[in-house]
Amino acid sequence: MLREQLTYVEEKINNACIKSGRNREEVTLIAVSKTKPTEILQEAYNLGIRIFGENKVQELTQKYELLPKDIQWHFIGHLQTNKVKYIVDKVAMIHSVDSIKLAEAIEKEAAKKDCIVRILVEVNVAQEESKFGISEEEVLPFIEKVSKFKHIKVEGLMTIAPFVENPEENRPIFSKLHQLSVDINEKNIDNVNVSILSMGMTNDYEVAIEEGATFVRVGTGIFGHRNYSKNA
Ligand SMILES: *Cc1c(COP(=O)(O)O)cnc(C)c1O
Repeated sequence: MLREQLTYVEEKINNACIKSGRNREEVTLIAVSKTKPTEILQEAYNLGIRIFGENKVQELTQKYELLPKDIQWHFIGHLQTNKVKYIVDKVAMIHSVDSIKLAEAIEKEAAKKDCIVRILVEVNVAQEESKFGISEEEVLPFIEKVSKFKHIKVEGLMTIAPFVENPEENRPIFSKLHQLSVDINEKNIDNVNVSILSMGMTNDYEVAIEEGATFVRVGTGIFGHRNYSKNA
């Protein structure tokens, strides 16, 4: 089943690239494996998947210990400052940096471990009260500040679009994030090249690709529905 679903997602990514005149190599698929047991991740690994997305620190570190070391772990969830130390030297990228306080915690822990952490700035384009992420107006000053941190490399922007029946409804959100990255790059800030756009999930990743996504985060489309009950 996993093989079929991966093939299906791969096909849709390919089609979206063709439709929008992009190279398939411009788009990276992140397999969002949160809540799924390590055996399933191993199965995906055996099918060639090397990039996994997780949104809980403890779950990520447990899976990190158990699975092959050439996996790239992307942290995509809300991150508490006191938990940064557990993941800074384990993740390939943190997608969800949305406060100076968090950036400072990452800088401090990365300095201790002598590593450089690649990050994306989470932007709340949809302006949803319930969502994390900084507002569009705050992004530029935020990046200007964080770009001075020695152990952080700002590589792009991330957004979580709302769940909608028709993915077309999210197109303006994706195009706004894209435009924002263009505007920021025009400022030529030292140490900053906002080239990654992490946007699009199972419901809307094709539209996101058409609007310039370079990372799509697909969970349900690959692994099936998540069971959040305790005895899952
Ligand atoms: C869970 C999650 C996803 C994947 O969602 P699906 O709809 O299952 O594809 C993507 N991004 C983030 C930040 C998530 O938390």
